[in-house]
Amino acid sequence: MPVRATKRGADRTPLSGDADVLICGASFAGLSVARELAGSGARVLVVDRYEIGERQTSACAAPTQWLRNLGLEDSIRQTFGGLVVHTARGVVDFRMPWTFSTFDYRELCALLARQGDFTFETAKVESVARGDVHTVTTDRGDLRAPLVVDALGWRRVLGRDLRIQPPEARLSRGLEVHPAGTGDELELWIDPRIVRAGYGWRFPAEDEVRIGIGSFDPRDRVKEPTVALARELGSPPDGYQGNWIPHELRPATSEDVFFAGDSAGHCLPLTAEGIRTAFYFGLAVGRELRAVIEGRQTRAQALASYAAFSAAHARPYKWLLNMQHCVGPLNVRGPLVHWTLRALDHRRLTDAFFNTYLSVAPPGFAHQAGAPRRTGAPVAA
Ligand SMILES: Cc1cc2nc3c(=O)[nH]c(=O)nc-3n(C[C@H](O)[C@H](O)[C@H](O)COP(=O)(O)OP(=O)(O)OC[C@H]3O[C@@H](n4cnc5c(N)ncnc54)[C@H](O)[C@@H]3O)c2cc1C
Repeated sequence: MPVRATKRGADRTPLSGDADVLICGASFAGLSVARELAGSGARVLVVDRYEIGERQTSACAAPTQWLRNLGLEDSIRQTFGGLVVHTARGVVDFRMPWTFSTFDYRELCALLARQGDFTFETAKVESVARGDVHTVTTDRGDLRAPLVVDALGWRRVLGRDLRIQPPEARLSRGLEVHPAGTGDELELWIDPRIVRAGYGWRFPAEDEVRIGIGSFDPRDRVKEPTVALARELGSPPDGYQGNWIPHELRPATSEDVFFAGDSAGHCLPLTAEGIRTAFYFGLAVGRELRAVIEGRQTRAQALASYAAFSAAHARPYKWLLNMQHCVGPLNVRGPLVHWTLRALDHRRLTDAFFNTYLSVAPPGFAHQAGAPRRTGAPVAA
């Protein structure tokens, strides 16, 4: 079990104050927003209920180029040029036109946080009262800021516009274990014997393997299949971690608050890849806010511009969601999944598929504009 570093007891002092920008949530999305505000002169306050990097909730695999372009390559543990997919009928071995890397969550968060310029406090965020200056209530007291970002993950704590209650909400669920071990391949299992509507994975990360199950149906249990897959792979089911994963795009603004990452449903359906999209939309929010701080636009203009930017991605999200809906029905129809994957396994088709998929949130976006980078990120597409 991870040790909680959250301030407790006498250390949990009352908290109040004003900031220009209040970023709620200090993971992929929240820290990306903060990065883009560095050097803007804004008083930026970041709050999270845990210390930065304390609570890993994902298998931590992302396109290598995103990690490089953000100057986060020191957190990389292992890099993969292929994706091995196991089905009930065999194995399909895709060679990708770009690479994926697993990384260390704590180290990545520390590197990303170092690129920002902000004050950090641990506090549990509870609600927001909207105004020209918003008031955000936390378990340590009220915080005030005209610009507020909800990067709090799937619960969308500051959004009253949606009712997000599993299992009714549009959420997938994921659970994984992190036993010690090694491996050379990034592997997926799309096999109804393992999970009906979803997939299993094994992502090696130097000295540990991250083995898990994602189910697109929030009613289906994931613990037993995770334990079973780990056992089948000869690994003990050590170090559980899991979470709900939104699989539908949500409004990116509500009540004059900005939402980025899982809170806005930015995790990609079908693959449940939500780290690079949290970077991508987090950077986008940061750039909008920077323009407000520098007097180049109003808050209302920033909200409208960011909402339009997020909504402009609706098509690929819908497309991936439609494909996600097919997995369960195809999975129970014998060889169909296998033959569909085999049909894709031709160099030009594979390249086209993976390149189109990457273009939903392309790594070059990290370089497009915004705050000066403090670490020496290499310039690449
Ligand atoms: C088991 C599993 C494996 C996954 N593997 C991958 C993967 O390999 N690659 C990939 O791209 N995606 C993966 N995902 C999806 C990915 O983890 C998410 O899409 C991503 O973490 C979203 O980033 P975020 O910053 O929006 O939210 P989060 O990473 O969820 O961060 C939210 C932050 O808000 C804080 N917080 C929450 N509520 C409160 C509150 N009330 N008050 C204060 N702080 C609060 C949390 O402590 C956290 O720091 C996986 C998901 C799961 C469940």
